[in-house]
Amino acid sequence: MTSILAQHVHQLTRTHLATGPDGAPVERPSLLEQLRGAVKPDAGGGAAGSSDGARLPVDVGAVSLLQDIERSARAEHQELFETQHGTLEQVIQRFATVTHPEWVDYLARVTGEWATSIDRYLRPRKPRRRLHQPCPACGVKYHGEERTPTLTLNCWGEDEETLPPAEWDAACGACGAEWRGEEITWFVGALRCA
Ligand SMILES: [Zn+2]
Repeated sequence: MTSILAQHVHQLTRTHLATGPDGAPVERPSLLEQLRGAVKPDAGGGAAGSSDGARLPVDVGAVSLLQDIERSARAEHQELFETQHGTLEQVIQRFATVTHPEWVDYLARVTGEWATSIDRYLRPRKPRRRLHQPCPACGVKYHGEERTPTLTLNCWGEDEETLPPAEWDAACGACGAEWRGEEITWFVGALRCA
């Protein structure tokens, strides 16, 4: 069995399988390689280029994320192995050789945060949909001074594709009720009847 830490290290530093927009597995370059590809938007890749004509020569968001990860990775590595020798990939791969349980848990969490932040940066999700309908739990339709809809629905996956309903989640900002998985079927039904 592969540990969570080993999985994160693998995604960050090696070509790996990921779930594509249609749910089928796709082979992707390492997350670090994808992030480096985003640093220079004109060199291909990169999600966050400005669309209003004036393209920056480098994607500063990607540069800063890469620098943050490199800085923390080398700091952890220094603490563990008393050296910062090696490429960023080598440094992170060496984390997978750590055996002390507390360090393993800690590094699994940190590497997971890096993987998530790269993924969110490269593949931003659409914001949750606001539903202009009363909450099936508390009956409130709009709340707050701005009178914003209480109900929001997340139905977007990677690449802004709509997820299958079983992976949706809905929430009410007024009463805090949440619906996910099989509850979504009930939730959608309740809205239709309202
Ligand atoms: Zn509610």
